[in-house]
Amino acid sequence: MRSCLSASKNWRRRSESTKSSSGRRRQLVPDIEPDAEPITFAMQCAVCEQTGGRTEEQAGARSWATGHLKANPEHFTYRELITRPCRFEPGEWL
Ligand SMILES: [Zn+2]
Repeated sequence: MRSCLSASKNWRRRSESTKSSSGRRRQLVPDIEPDAEPITFAMQCAVCEQTGGRTEEQAGARSWATGHLKANPEHFTYRELITRPCRFEPGEWL
């Protein structure tokens, strides 16, 4: 979890900020509310572009890559696709 949190922190630092019509900045941040969509993981083969199923468990996504490598012994490179829910939240007054 630590790497996930620190990634969120870095992400927040360079997050988008926009001015709303109410005179208040709005900032796009990771959605960590209890009702937020879950973070999901999937692996994609960089050789043939085939993608495993999306799952909330990173290990589950990686096991697809292991199976794909067994079936395709020359497919060594993969992309980890992480879907993180985001939301605009009110920021400082202008
Ligand atoms: Zn492949």
